[in-house]
Amino acid sequence: MKLLLAVKRVVDYNVKVRVKPDQTGVDLTNVKMAMNPFCEIAVEEGVRLKEKGLVTEVVVVSIGPAAAQEQLRTALALGADRAILVETDDELNALAVAKLLKAVVDQEQPQLVILGKQAIDSDNNQTGQMLAALCEYPQGTFASKIAIAAGKAIVTREVDGGLQTVALCLPAIITTDLRLNEPRYASLPNIMKAKKKPLQTITPEVLGVSIRSTSKTLKVEAPANRSAGIKVKSVVELVEKLKYEAKVI
Ligand code: AMP
Repeated sequence: MKLLLAVKRVVDYNVKVRVKPDQTGVDLTNVKMAMNPFCEIAVEEGVRLKEKGLVTEVVVVSIGPAAAQEQLRTALALGADRAILVETDDELNALAVAKLLKAVVDQEQPQLVILGKQAIDSDNNQTGQMLAALCEYPQGTFASKIAIAAGKAIVTREVDGGLQTVALCLPAIITTDLRLNEPRYASLPNIMKAKKKPLQTITPEVLGVSIRSTSKTLKVEAPANRSAGIKVKSVVELVEKLKYEAKVI
């Protein structure tokens, strides 16, 4: 069974992002970039499925600038077999990404595609669902457990107030939630070995996909600065302030 994993290059989750002075977006100058954390979980799950003998080949795909090769090499060091970079410097919306991934699915014909539930930069939570719709494949989103049995993917989903388990006919699309697994770190020997694993670069034009955006970001604003708090001496003073200053009670 062939598995396709989608990984996105994003600003590292430890970085405090700065908005550009002209408010057109986030300033990426000298900012540390990394693999989106939910995609790391997807890679870990793919590698575990391969280690269990349920998957024969793990292919990892990223759409983005040439620098996204770094994240693909990381995925290869973690255990993926081969990588595909769909190279573009354009800022893509979720539908354009889903269309490109659909073209890769058409080429690669995987039985299972695993994506993160959300990219921490755009916070879309759309790509997996759109890809499932475009491919007309069943989807199991927000997965906290995945099993493969009798030609089906059994996915336990984190839903409001509980868990839902669904059986998906293959081929299928799954998106990962936080509690699915704890990703491993790549070992130095595996980082070295990953340098020799195949990484193919293609373009949206080669895939025949139009990435023209139908929406435009008008403005990006940083959250308002929080003013410093104050210490009160007694409960009476607290109640007074809540009542007459904050006027919340
Ligand atoms: P989003 O819908 O943008 O929140 O992203 C959800 C998931 O879609 C991510 O965790 C990735 O698995 C996948 N994805 C989104 N953008 C890209 C991209 N540029 N390249 C590869 N995968 C992506």
